[in-house]
Amino acid sequence: MRITQALRLAVGAIALTVVASGCGGGSDKTATENAADGKLTIGIKYDQPGLGLREKDGSFSGFDVDVATYVAEKLGVSPENITFKEAPSAQRETLIQNGQVDFIAATYSITDKRKEKVDFAGPYFITGQSLLVRSDNTDITGAESLSGNKKLCSVKGSTPAQNVKDTYAKDVQLQEYDTYSLCVEALKAGAVDAVTTDDIILRGYAAQNPGALKVVGDTFTVEKYGIGVKKGDTESRQKINDAIEDMITSGAWQAALEKNFGSTGIQIPEPPQLDRY
Ligand code: GLU
Repeated sequence: MRITQALRLAVGAIALTVVASGCGGGSDKTATENAADGKLTIGIKYDQPGLGLREKDGSFSGFDVDVATYVAEKLGVSPENITFKEAPSAQRETLIQNGQVDFIAATYSITDKRKEKVDFAGPYFITGQSLLVRSDNTDITGAESLSGNKKLCSVKGSTPAQNVKDTYAKDVQLQEYDTYSLCVEALKAGAVDAVTTDDIILRGYAAQNPGALKVVGDTFTVEKYGIGVKKGDTESRQKINDAIEDMITSGAWQAALEKNFGSTGIQIPEPPQLDRY
């Protein structure tokens, strides 16, 4: 009798744990399984023009959005069955780990540290870190000119912020916000002197603020954008890799870049080699 009771309690406790772990609204299914059910939840940025932007009418635009939509279609999910979810830099690993998104396409650099928590398909784009300043600024010309009491803005949980901490932290005052658009507001208001993140992201903001903001200096890191999936979900990762490859060979990759960045005057780079680990 006692044993049965103890067993019941134990089973009850396990059931409670299972219920509790599902509380974040997350799904235990893989991206492939959810796609087979006809729907996908995809993490993107909401505030990065040209890459991932939520428009005023609630629609989404940008290269990451186009890549995500192409991949979803290849997994059998049409655009109207995609739910986009905002994936701020610092929350990306957690969103994937908790199953709150099926995958993330959000200027998400592939790094060894992140690979301890999530897996990556791709890379589907390669860029590098640079600097955005006000157009009338003449003393910040590149990473090496960041010294003294300069105020530099970047985003929590991003590789540029980490890189600045590691390489330049002694010289500059680093301010970290949750999103790059908040950094750009601070830059325009004169509260910071420069914003640092990937060149392609900064080009989007510069294009949105002609005459007010400019990108300076050469890129000083290599950032390879991957699509983040649940760690160990090899099936989805491979399917997403196949979709990216298809997007590149079909010309849709080039067309998406031209559509989103053609007017900025940037040179469209060669497509990257996939890293099929
Ligand atoms: N690509 C960098 C990263 O993944 C910076 C851009 C971002 O924060 O989204 O951290």
